[in-house]
Amino acid sequence: MLSENETIIIKEKNGLKYMQFKKLLELGINHLYTLKSDGIDFATGGPLEEKSYETVAKILEIPKEKIIIPKQTHTDCVKCVDERTVQEDLVFTDGVITDKPGLALATKNADCILLNFYDPVKKVIANIHSGWRGTYKKIAEKAVVKMINNYGCKPEDIYCFINPSIRVDHFEVDEDVMELGKEIFGFTKRTDEFIKKGRIFEDKQKYNIDTVLINRILLENLGIKPEKIIDCEICSFCHRDEVASARGDGQGYTRAISIMMM
Ligand SMILES: [Zn+2]
Repeated sequence: MLSENETIIIKEKNGLKYMQFKKLLELGINHLYTLKSDGIDFATGGPLEEKSYETVAKILEIPKEKIIIPKQTHTDCVKCVDERTVQEDLVFTDGVITDKPGLALATKNADCILLNFYDPVKKVIANIHSGWRGTYKKIAEKAVVKMINNYGCKPEDIYCFINPSIRVDHFEVDEDVMELGKEIFGFTKRTDEFIKKGRIFEDKQKYNIDTVLINRILLENLGIKPEKIIDCEICSFCHRDEVASARGDGQGYTRAISIMMM
């Protein structure tokens, strides 16, 4: 069972279970990450999607129409959004940034990493989907660079919150994905820390990749303070009874949503 700790709180309202970061609440950001609940699923085009949006909108006390959700396709594309942004602008997009209060930025996952950024000085938020493909394309880095270049944010002011995702012990890959990671992130000189030799399965050596650590390294290299990277430390696979997990549930798996708004 997931339980509250020094980083997160767990709530239940109108039949929806969800998680919130204490620090993000303290900073005044209206947000949540959905946990598995009856009748809630954010799978695109799924039968429950519309009703699920209505439920979260009600809990956050926002109009459903204010929820901005990119059509995630494991790209490294991050877009700046405002009141004029329409859904069609957000195809092949995996991250959204805004400085507009009242716009709710959303991303979905089931094992992938969702990163919530907030700069309380410049009042800018970003919500980023960084699965292993996005992580390899350094989408987190691109998001922060955009916050700096487009909104004048300073890295040392930026907070990053890491939502539930599959963690190193359960994120198993083949040699090709491991080698690619080694090649891309060799420059960090820390590949030994985020690549672990795993089990041998069907005569093949498996590897485990710590994609959370890779994101952390990228962010710290940009000047984000380690203490401002706040991780819920929840493995979606280990907690698949309560958290959406593609690997945990297989075919027909449900999706969770992360929503944040100033
Ligand atoms: Zn796990």
